[in-house]
Amino acid sequence: MSKEDDIVSTEEKTVRLLDDNLKRMDGRKLDELGDIRIEAGALGRADGSCYLEWRGNKVYAAVYGPREVHPRHLQDPTRGILRCRYNMAAFSVGDRKRPGPDRRSVELSKVMGEAIGSVVFTRQFPRTSVDVFVEVVQADAGTRCAGLTAASVALADAGIPMRGLIASCAAGKIEGHIALDLRNEEDNFGDADLPVAIMPRTDEILLLQMDGHLTEEEFFQALDMAMKACHEIEQIEKQALLKKYKEALGGEE
Ligand code: UDP
Repeated sequence: MSKEDDIVSTEEKTVRLLDDNLKRMDGRKLDELGDIRIEAGALGRADGSCYLEWRGNKVYAAVYGPREVHPRHLQDPTRGILRCRYNMAAFSVGDRKRPGPDRRSVELSKVMGEAIGSVVFTRQFPRTSVDVFVEVVQADAGTRCAGLTAASVALADAGIPMRGLIASCAAGKIEGHIALDLRNEEDNFGDADLPVAIMPRTDEILLLQMDGHLTEEEFFQALDMAMKACHEIEQIEKQALLKKYKEALGGEE
């Protein structure tokens, strides 16, 4: 490590992420999930949609399809194709982000699309495509998790046949402690971040990435914490879907 790096890391350590009682700066305990609000069917033109607020994250997901694939040579006669596009609005972060796709959004679109593709029964709609759009309009770390969770609700809202819902949450390490659902400052100045997506029905892991350093024991502690949170999140997803369909049928909430 160069002398310059040393100075940077010393400066970073001056940002306090935990108080003396191990409470975080937003008042949460280490294993406490941020507030999540999910609205199914938030967009009129999509076949299925979702608006999700999660701490400082605000995310829309829109699903179109199954619909005919253009250009036609991309059609697969044996199954439908699943396409996912993750995009972060230029105004979604503190420092304006350059609009349009970049390496990060291409990576996130790919890993999110693969996670979604592994739960959707694509063989039930050959020659067609299902297109999933995730638009982050306000970001506060954990947007891939927020985006996947919103996409799962939007897919269910569109009636796309799936093996189960997807729920996603990250855990990480701040000031030497494993913590759930890092916000932006904790992600930037913390030691590690471990985004996880599962299908809670079977606990199958659909996405697992890691940034930073964790020991083996810490890794499993963080994974366990994130997976437990995913089960909580799945319940919030189900409530949002039930609310929409009860309202549509004229029933009570
Ligand atoms: N971020 C930013 N500018 C960018 C990309 C990311 O300010 O160009 C912030 C944003 O708040 C994002 C966070 O950094 O949520 C963490 O980004 P990361 O790549 O770890 O993905 P995420 O945690 O959102 O899935």
